[in-house]
Amino acid sequence: MIIQLEKEITDDQLSQLEDKLANINYKTNQVETQYGKYIIGIGKKAFDIRAIGTLPGILDIHRVSDAYKLVSRKWKTQDTAIDLGDGVKIGGGNFQIMAGPCSIESEEQIERTVAHLVANNVKIMRGGVYKPRSSPYSFRGLGIEGLKLFYQKCSAAGIKIVTEVMMTEQIEPMYDYVDIFQVGARNSQNFNLLDALGKVDKPILLKRGISGTIEELLQAAEYIFSNGNERIMLCERGIRTYEKAYRNTLDINAIPILKEKTHLPVVIDPSHGIGVRRFVEPVALAGIMAGADAVIMEVHAYPEKAFSDGQQTLDHTEAKRTYDRLRKTVAFKSNL
Ligand code: PEP
Ligand code: MN
Repeated sequence: MIIQLEKEITDDQLSQLEDKLANINYKTNQVETQYGKYIIGIGKKAFDIRAIGTLPGILDIHRVSDAYKLVSRKWKTQDTAIDLGDGVKIGGGNFQIMAGPCSIESEEQIERTVAHLVANNVKIMRGGVYKPRSSPYSFRGLGIEGLKLFYQKCSAAGIKIVTEVMMTEQIEPMYDYVDIFQVGARNSQNFNLLDALGKVDKPILLKRGISGTIEELLQAAEYIFSNGNERIMLCERGIRTYEKAYRNTLDINAIPILKEKTHLPVVIDPSHGIGVRRFVEPVALAGIMAGADAVIMEVHAYPEKAFSDGQQTLDHTEAKRTYDRLRKTVAFKSNL
């Protein structure tokens, strides 16, 4: 059960509500986000919600039986749009492309990518400075100095950035240089990191775990939301299956299912999803038709020289064609 409170609810009104819920054996969790105050009631007993909904200090009450609640569409039926400022929005009918290298490598690489994105009207650049790599001997990112350079070059060009945070201790030093914090697939159930990102007022791009179910992804998002941050996007990036013909199994099915279950924007990552450059575009287009609100894709001027994930990275010419087809597909879909 979600009880939305009035911002000005008094302590007396709150304890009256908590007493009522305790009487019917409901456990309560108080949630305060950048946008609202809520009580999440967890219990089994059936009761007439009007008896609680009419108490003073309460705006709204909803029964939500799912394991995840605040991210559920049963509570919030309208799509959530994430506003990054300067007219850049994701979700609620606002399509965005996020493009850039797997890893931030050098000043020159950032500059080249920024020029390419500006020329193609792409508003968000991706790039990791902390890289989760399967091997400890692979390139692991330029760290905070790389992030500062990345952010400075992008903000000067009017481009927002999305970059991965791997641990709680990195959040504070990164904060001033990030527009969207990415939680990578490997950290999708790092609950301490999710708790901490819930206390941060910056949008979060939460990736699905390598073996994560849709419900686990939604519950991971609930961690962030219930800690205070409503600005979350969910990303389908492929899961591990028995199939060996490509890197991951991009779960297109997850997109309409997520769109039905949650009001949060859904992003598709075709690069990690299939892991093969020549198939990035077709699966990205499929993701749009399935309902994705945004695409995040790996792009590099010289993919063969990329420090990581070159095999799934488009060069600037290929990327330009893909942006164009993505946009045409979005327009086509909206006219269906
Ligand atoms: C990435 O975006 O480069 C990345 C490492 O993604 P994932 O966590 O989905 O593997
Ligand atoms: Mn990558």
